Amino acid sequence: AVPDQVDVVIIGAGPSGAIASALLKQRGFSVIVFEKEQFPRFSIGESLLPQCMQYVEQAGFLPAVRDAGFQFKNGAAFGWGERSTYFNFEEKFSPGHGTTFQVERARFDKLLADEAQKQGVDIRYCHSISDCQLHDGGGNTVTYATPEGESRTIDCRFVLDASGFGRVLPRLLDLETPSDFPVRQAAFTHIDDGIESTDFDRNKILVTVHPEERDIWYWLIPFSGGKCSVGVVASEEKLRKRGAATPLQLVQTMLAESPVLANLLQRAQFKYPANQITGYSCNVKSLANNNYALLGNAGEFLDPVFSSGVTIAMRSASMAVEVLAKQLDGEAVDWQNDYEIPLRKGVDTFRVFVDAWYDGLFQDIIFYPEQSVNVREMISSILAGYAWDEKNPFVAEPRRRMRALAEFCSSAA
Ligand code: FAD
Repeated sequence: AVPDQVDVVIIGAGPSGAIASALLKQRGFSVIVFEKEQFPRFSIGESLLPQCMQYVEQAGFLPAVRDAGFQFKNGAAFGWGERSTYFNFEEKFSPGHGTTFQVERARFDKLLADEAQKQGVDIRYCHSISDCQLHDGGGNTVTYATPEGESRTIDCRFVLDASGFGRVLPRLLDLETPSDFPVRQAAFTHIDDGIESTDFDRNKILVTVHPEERDIWYWLIPFSGGKCSVGVVASEEKLRKRGAATPLQLVQTMLAESPVLANLLQRAQFKYPANQITGYSCNVKSLANNNYALLGNAGEFLDPVFSSGVTIAMRSASMAVEVLAKQLDGEAVDWQNDYEIPLRKGVDTFRVFVDAWYDGLFQDIIFYPEQSVNVREMISSILAGYAWDEKNPFVAEPRRRMRALAEFCSSAA
C-alpha cells in the first residue's frame, strides 16, 4: 500500500524525477514517485548532452546506461545548403564527460526509473497527481488518483515537481508566466533511415537550416539499429502555410524542401507514428520555496535547438536535492540563492544561444570558416551542456561575447 506519509513526494518519473528520487534515497530520505503513465511511454527529447552524464553517474545509473546499447554521441553537426560544420564535444573548454548517447526516450526513461527502483525507490505508475496543499512549516498534502480512479492523499515534508510538460505545480499554484519566445511548432517522427552515405556521421545530431528560411530547422538524430528521429521546427504560421493534413505529411513536405536531407533520406521508410507539439516554451514566476521545487520542464523550457532539455532537467534534480537534503536535515536554506539563481544562470546561457540561433547570428558564427580553436572549444562546451561553468567567457558574459563574436565573423566574412 502507498504510505500515508513520506519525506518527499516526486511528481513524474521522467529523467528529472528518476535522478532526484535516487539521490534522495541514497541520502536516506523516504521518497515516493507518482507517475501518471505506465512505462515505457513515448517522450520527445532524444539527443542527450555530455554534461548530463555527470548526473546519470551521480545517481549510480551510468553502468546501466552505458551497457544499454544506445547510439553513441560525440558531437553536433550543422548544415545549411552547401555549408556544413561540426563540433566534437571532446574538444571543449570545460572539464567533464565529452560523449553521451542518442536515445529512444521510451526505453531510456524506463531504464532510469528501473535503476531507481533497484536502489529501493518506490515508484507508482498510473498514479496521477491532482491536487497539492502546501503549508508553511512543512505539513503538505498531495492528492493522487489511483489506477482504479480513487482519490487519495499523502502527507509529505516537501514536493518535487518533475512532471515535465504536465506542469502540475505551476498550474495548481498559479506560477505560470508566458515565455519570451514566439510560439513555435515541432513536427516529428521516427524512421528506418536507410542511409548509405559514408559521409554521414551517426555519432552526431545533424541540425539542418532550411535553405531559404533561416528560422526553420530540422533535426536528424540517429539511433542504434538503423533508425533516426527526424523533426522540423518553425513558427506555427509558417508550418500552417504548407497545408499538410497530418503531422507525417508535414514532416515529409518539409524534408522535400531541403535537397540535402531529401537526398540523404531517399531510402527512408516512414512507418512509425508522427506527432506535433505547439507552444512548448514556458516559464514560471518562481522555481522553489520551502515547500516545493520545480525540476526540468516543470519549470522553464526554452527551445529544442541545442538539445538542452534533459541536461537542464537532470542538473536541476541534482541541485535541488543538494538544497533539499540540507533543509530536511534541519539546516537553514535559501531556495532563491541556492537553487533558482544558480540554475537559471545556465538556462540563461542557453537562452542567449537560442536567441542568436533564430537571429541568424549563431549560424553566421558557426559557418564562419576561420574560427579560432579557442573560441570553438568554448562554444563546443556550451553545446555539450556545460552552460554553468563560469570560467567559460560564454557563460560568464554570454550576451556580450555572442554579440562581439557575431560582429567579428560578419565583418571578416
Ligand atoms: P518529462 O521527461 O516530460 O517527464 C515528466 C513525467 O511526468 C512524464 O512521464 C509524465 O507522464 C509525468 N506526469 C505528468 N503529469 C503528471 C501528473 N499529474 N501526475 C503524475 N505524473 C505526471 N531535450 C533534450 O535533452 N534533447 C533533445 O533532443 C530534445 N528535443 C526536444 C524536441 C522538442 C520538439 C521538444 C518540445 C523538447 C525537446 N527536448 C529535448 C526537451 C525534453 O523533452 C525535456 O526537456 C525533458 O523530457 C524534460 O524532462 P523532465 O524530467 O523534466 O520531464
